[in-house]
Amino acid sequence: MNVQFPDQYDSYVDGKSLSSDETFTVYNPATNESLFEVAEAGPEGVDTALESANAAQDTWERIDPDERARILRDIADEIRTNADRLTKIETAEVGRPIEESAGIVEATAEYFEYYSGIVDKIEGETIPVPGNRHTYTVREPLGILALVVPWNAPSVLAARSIAPALACGNTIVAKPSPEAPASTIELGQIASEAGLPNGVLNVVPGDGANTGAALTESDQVGGIMFTGSRASGKQVLKAAADNLVPVGLELGGKNPSIVFPDADLEKVIDSMAVAYGNAGQVCFAPTRMYIHEDVYDEVIERFTECVENMSVGPGIDNPDVGPLITEEARDRVANYVDEAIEDGARLLAGGEVPNKVGNFYMPTILDRVDDDATISCEEVFGPVLTAYEFSSEEEVLQRANDVDYGLQAVVWTQTLDRAHRVAGSIEAGSILVNEYPAVFPQVPFGGYKDSGLGREKGTQAIDHYTQLKSINISLGDGPGTIFDK
Ligand code: NAD
Repeated sequence: MNVQFPDQYDSYVDGKSLSSDETFTVYNPATNESLFEVAEAGPEGVDTALESANAAQDTWERIDPDERARILRDIADEIRTNADRLTKIETAEVGRPIEESAGIVEATAEYFEYYSGIVDKIEGETIPVPGNRHTYTVREPLGILALVVPWNAPSVLAARSIAPALACGNTIVAKPSPEAPASTIELGQIASEAGLPNGVLNVVPGDGANTGAALTESDQVGGIMFTGSRASGKQVLKAAADNLVPVGLELGGKNPSIVFPDADLEKVIDSMAVAYGNAGQVCFAPTRMYIHEDVYDEVIERFTECVENMSVGPGIDNPDVGPLITEEARDRVANYVDEAIEDGARLLAGGEVPNKVGNFYMPTILDRVDDDATISCEEVFGPVLTAYEFSSEEEVLQRANDVDYGLQAVVWTQTLDRAHRVAGSIEAGSILVNEYPAVFPQVPFGGYKDSGLGREKGTQAIDHYTQLKSINISLGDGPGTIFDK
């Protein structure tokens, strides 16, 4: 049932393994046993990967669009052929329940499928300028994309950027997180098997300070896409500023879920239970639950019962809630909860580390928490929801928006005008009404405020992974003046 890992993973550069002397260990968060060793790419490995990407850039950018599209489609097929293995890898290194992992892997394939259809639709425009001229635009790749991936959904988050970046003709050097690098390395191998030319997609495992910084600070890269925490995102933004390259940041969230009294409460409870998916280690998890006073007690009672009945265990057994990524992450979550309780919060469910091996924390709900308490403002990134009672639409909008983050919000109401009004007033990059979750490659995603810069997904990603060139051709005689008509 468990997946067979090699003893050691290396960097994947120019279509082959690239080893190094420094190694680190990846652990199974459900058992804390070691899974495999990984050769840290370090600055040297990053340089070799950049050279390889540079050498491949010209060919990849000039390959016929239909051929590039076919390769992306073949990558999607190859991912599906390897779905069972990739699913087990996701569960082994991230700890995610196996059914969720299967969904993640299918979504990984869908990104390549979706962007394969876009390759031959990356179009310019003709522009009607005055005089006897033909003026038009073309979209060109950025060159080498430096891609930094977090550990919480590595294969799909890597694919979310790799697929559009490849579609637009870029080459890539991707740095997965040291906690969960295997799926991104295997994605590199899978892409080669599907026909992606060597050097177009390179993967350099390692930590942020050594390998990640060497990549994002390199003057060889044409653009950066970073997914991770706000703190690391700010460092990457500074690196991008030093080299003046475009950067996309997909950062954390502190997402509200607003339950109006006319909501379908059954649906609210079932959907909000999904907020504990991947043990709450999901950037868009709706962790601040605002419930109208008319239904507050009922929702709290029913939801608490639902959470108390959740199963907790190793992802391979497909529980409701798996482990946290590391012991340190588990302890950080426990500290947030303990501090909130010390400050007067009411513990409704969970609030403890279960007596079992692995980095588990019981699914938790708290209420009677101040809006400005640490747990109300910071991203806990664990299986913890906080509930707040509200009286009016105006009040809840003000409170929901009163955080630094703005990634996603969920609104529960049967009233059409209120749904549109509230959706229009929340400061977040995406709003879901009467549904959670809803994640599609076609729909742009990204953050307002501290949740990020730019948008991934959808056709908008093309803006991010290309640069626009205008070309003006004189069809007449003689020089113009600077403001010539
Ligand atoms: P993290 O910031 O610690 O690390 C993310 C990645 O950045 C890792 O690969 C890390 O090695 C690398 N890194 C760290 N410092 C770096 C630096 N100075 N230069 C280059 N690379 C560096 O985040 P994490 O703990 O791995 O991931 C969890 C965070 O990611 C949460 O905040 C979560 O909300 C966020 N996230 C956001 C999205 C989104 O789409 N908005 C998706 C998933 C996760």
